[in-house]
Amino acid sequence: LSDEVEKAKGAKKTAEPTIFSKIVDKSIPADIIYEDEQCLAFRDVSPQAPVHFLVIPKSPIPGLSDAQDTDLQLLGHLLLTAKRVAEREDLSNGYRLVINNGPDGAQSVYHLHIHILGGRQMSWPPG
Ligand code: ADP
Repeated sequence: LSDEVEKAKGAKKTAEPTIFSKIVDKSIPADIIYEDEQCLAFRDVSPQAPVHFLVIPKSPIPGLSDAQDTDLQLLGHLLLTAKRVAEREDLSNGYRLVINNGPDGAQSVYHLHIHILGGRQMSWPPG
């Protein structure tokens, strides 16, 4: 198994603030490329493509499976933010969005995030 999958298998959903909450409250640094009142986009520290950034809600929803009907507007906003930041990153030839959810999805940080990867040809299926 890859390191990422091992890390994800060891990750647990807890009430503790995650590293992403600390990025939201600016108590740890990140390369933030977009911010508004609802969300934040920042570069992944371990990029898997020439362009790899994450879009996260400021509110700490642990994962997609925890999202509620009341999050409808927020979830749409995250997708449109991903699209707009991808445009600013010159990904006009395409890009990929990924949401890892739960252990089988290899989620390692339990604060909902959308990965946006681009700048190279993607393959299918993902690992
Ligand atoms: P996986 O680690 O299996 O990709 P996730 O979907 O939970 O699982 O992704 C978490 C992502 O967050 C990883 O791509 C990781 O490189 C990234 N990451 C972890 N800590 C930071 C950080 N401090 N700043 C930016 N990105 C981070």
